[in-house]
Amino acid sequence: MVCLNYKDSVKNGGMSMSKLLIKNADWVITLDDRGTRYANADILIEENVIKEIGPNLAADYDTQVLDGRGKVVIPGMVNTHHHFYQTLTRSIPATQEIELFDWLIKLYEIWRELDEEAVYFGTLVALGELLKTGCTTTTDHHYVFPKGKSPHLIDVQIKAAQAIGMRFHPTRGSMSLSRKDGGLPPDDVVQTEEEILADSERLIKTYHDPSRYAMVRIALAPCSPFSVTGRLMKKTVALARKYGVHCHTHLAETKDEERFCLEKFGMRPFAYMKSLDWYGDDVWFAHSIHLNDEEIREMGRTRSGVAHCPVSNLKLSSGIARVKELIDAGARVGLAVDGSASNDSSNMWAELKTAYLLQKYTLGQQGLSAEETLRLACRGGAEALGRDDIGYLAPGMAADLVLINFNDLAFAGAQHDPVAAIVTCGDSQVVDTTIVNGKVVVRHGRLVALDEEFIVAEANRISAGLVARAAQRTGIDYLQRN
Ligand code: ZN
Repeated sequence: MVCLNYKDSVKNGGMSMSKLLIKNADWVITLDDRGTRYANADILIEENVIKEIGPNLAADYDTQVLDGRGKVVIPGMVNTHHHFYQTLTRSIPATQEIELFDWLIKLYEIWRELDEEAVYFGTLVALGELLKTGCTTTTDHHYVFPKGKSPHLIDVQIKAAQAIGMRFHPTRGSMSLSRKDGGLPPDDVVQTEEEILADSERLIKTYHDPSRYAMVRIALAPCSPFSVTGRLMKKTVALARKYGVHCHTHLAETKDEERFCLEKFGMRPFAYMKSLDWYGDDVWFAHSIHLNDEEIREMGRTRSGVAHCPVSNLKLSSGIARVKELIDAGARVGLAVDGSASNDSSNMWAELKTAYLLQKYTLGQQGLSAEETLRLACRGGAEALGRDDIGYLAPGMAADLVLINFNDLAFAGAQHDPVAAIVTCGDSQVVDTTIVNGKVVVRHGRLVALDEEFIVAEANRISAGLVARAAQRTGIDYLQRN
């Protein structure tokens, strides 16, 4: 197959207009402080900001009108943890039916092959699926920088996010502790601490935008306690605080990690983080499953953040996070899909439903209500990322919203409560339109700016190449089950 330059996949940058009026939506679910729901209402957007919500708003001659009849409008969901590159290593037979540590060791051998092209198309696949499943802001945790390949893989991700129209918080991941130093990853996917810190600073200076409605914000994200040194964790959080950016890492995902921290540091994972100054309202942790009562209280007291990844946690048999208790304690908790190789999709819709069901399973009817679950996915995510301009719908908020096709067969007979219907019925196919920063990026369930078939073909070609090259180098047949 001919390899086209990735710029060829960009068609025309999507629909853009200065004023957009969503007219006569069946419901507008704002998730504001009072939980306001409007029936038969309009939303006026000017440039990238919501101007007004209410009935019978007027359109002047240069306002584009979007028919909201038969639609429920919700705030765009916020994905607080992901590894985009893993979209290209999904459903590999040899990496199924194994838990995290063994799973990582096998996959590192394929991830050693990552280059700019793979990261670009892997990012487009993840972002495309997120946008089509109701997510308008996402983060990503990229920590694999193979030796001999481009060091500018996060720059490439930012290019992809701009092309597709997603609000993006890339985190500069890192691994410094390889097998020879007692870590998990192979030697040629880790970097020196000097390289990591210099590139972190470069990315902040080049891309970080602290202003309201920013489309790109950087955070710093050493991979985990078992792939970086404590010294790097401390230097990273000090660098982040110097520039006012947030920090992110994996925490308390598995019992293996707990044993590792107890053996190596003589502390449980969260105590280890606290010893490194890693807690507070500028830090958020992926997973946070294996926390005891005292640690949950401390997460809340320090306003630390959590990215809850229900589907990944189930797939890897990691456990179920105590989400409701973390929220009640005061922690900033958002929802996340996690890396696609542990989840097998970037489907926020699936996370929304799974989060709701899991809390019902663990806490009975004291678990999250439908409205609380939608809040977790929207406002909770915004808080976890440290933003007050996204996550709910109100004048002055960013115009990030999703129109759901309420006339779909999936909602027939379920029109009594739009929020309960969204959380308990339907699937991601019911997303009709996604608007990010005032721009329509998904229309009638399809990406506006990019050609989906082209992305699919390129992703499949690149994915096959990564697996074939890794198989040739290692002698492992990845297409055979374990
Ligand atoms: Zn992860």
